[in-house]
Amino acid sequence: MMAQPKASHFVDGQYVEDKAGPVIEVIYPATGAVIAVLHEATAAVIEQALASAARAQGLWAATRPVERARILRRAADLIRERNPELARLETLDTGKPIQETLVADWPSGADALEYFGGLAPTVGGETIPLGRDFAYTIREALGVCVGIGAWNYPSQIACWKSAPALALGNAMIFKPSEVTPLGALKLAEIFIEAGLPAGLFNVVQGRGMVGSALVSDARVAKVSLTGSVPTGQKVYALAAAGVRHVTMELGGKSPILVFDDASIEDAVGAAMLGNFYSAGQVCSNGTRVFVQKGIKAKFLKRLAERTAAIKLGDPLDETTQMGPLVSGAQLAKVLGYIETAKAEGATLVCGGGQAGAEGAFVQPTVFADVTDGMTIAQEEVFGPVMAVLDFDTEEEAVARANATEFGLAAGVFTADITRAHRVISNLQAGTCWINAYNLTPVEMPFGGSKLSGVGRENGHAAVEHYSQIKSVYVGMGPVDAPY
Ligand code: NAD
Repeated sequence: MMAQPKASHFVDGQYVEDKAGPVIEVIYPATGAVIAVLHEATAAVIEQALASAARAQGLWAATRPVERARILRRAADLIRERNPELARLETLDTGKPIQETLVADWPSGADALEYFGGLAPTVGGETIPLGRDFAYTIREALGVCVGIGAWNYPSQIACWKSAPALALGNAMIFKPSEVTPLGALKLAEIFIEAGLPAGLFNVVQGRGMVGSALVSDARVAKVSLTGSVPTGQKVYALAAAGVRHVTMELGGKSPILVFDDASIEDAVGAAMLGNFYSAGQVCSNGTRVFVQKGIKAKFLKRLAERTAAIKLGDPLDETTQMGPLVSGAQLAKVLGYIETAKAEGATLVCGGGQAGAEGAFVQPTVFADVTDGMTIAQEEVFGPVMAVLDFDTEEEAVARANATEFGLAAGVFTADITRAHRVISNLQAGTCWINAYNLTPVEMPFGGSKLSGVGRENGHAAVEHYSQIKSVYVGMGPVDAPY
């Protein structure tokens, strides 16, 4: 089962190879098989990517927004037409079940291309009356933007970053995670087929060093990173040296608060979605599930029943509900957290270990009686491991939910609408849900507060992060100078 692309990089409208770059082996995590061998970008490839992006961007920014939009919408159509084959590639790259990649990954990328294609032509400035004089503003492109992706939603991330960037007249150089390099190359092919001029969307492969080389280049105006907090801190600091714009989509340890009056079936379903989808490798997951004591027993009973029924197995089988983790390294990390939780005294409700003899599979795992000080209540596990904590009062639950350095997401389940809005207003998180969890439609801004990030992706909010305002004062009379 091979998925070897024509070459490692896609620069200035074509595939580019330079075998002098260190090797990247792409591994299908369900079997451990090597499915492609790529090379990291060398300095020559990085230079070609930057030079072609800088060259192409000016003309693109001067293109009418409706024309830019038409190309993005064509790209969205091509993605939808090819969704089955693209989903298969995404499954090979990540190990995520095809049941998910068919509906979540590329389709949400196509949504972003449609959405920002539609939005771009509506973006204008304002006119500011100043008596005799006036001023106006122009919302201009930033220039060359760098996108750096994580491995959990590689193609969605490539689309979520490139769609607003391109729609608003920027160029983008995208560096996928070295763990999942394949999807972004397909996006680059699709953009060219849809009519995007060469150089506007370049893909260069590599590990952190390639990312930092891009972020440090003087031609780069902005960097958007999806990744962990430690990487975010490094990239933010590098970007600061050049006073570049940043969007940081980082990690989380998000809470879900389930009150006694909630629908148990809905809350259990949402907690499962927010811990087990993509084998738990979702940044906004609600990995601290606070359950009010009155419904704890019922909640845990239904949770255990439904979790035990999850079907693990071959990710390419459409009936499989959970695949492996993305890599052997991630498997070792997640199994380590499970052992620590047991050692620290959490009650194992179900799961609790590796599944199967081959591949990076972990059993969907639930721990109850988790307390705030335990490691699984504090650190991002990024695997199918749910921590259930109990609470008595609303004030207590909110205070404990906020007692984290992260602030990506939060959810509340209750039948009391007043309480729902009050609790949300008191939670420190950038993206929240009431009686739902982890739904991230492109129309809604997405992002974190505190250490979980700065800036927002999606929605009208993203326009701010891929454009800048030029203010123009227009003098309509003689200049009144005191000299
Ligand atoms: P990571 O931080 O290890 O890597 C992210 C990307 O940064 C990769 O492409 C990597 O090559 C690159 N990188 C690493 N060091 C760099 C450096 N010094 N300079 C420039 N680039 C560098 O993250 P990961 O393991 O790929 O992904 C998992 C993490 O991403 C989790 O913490 C998760 O919560 C987070 N995440 C956040 C969101 C969000 O939208 N908030 C979405 C998905 C994942």
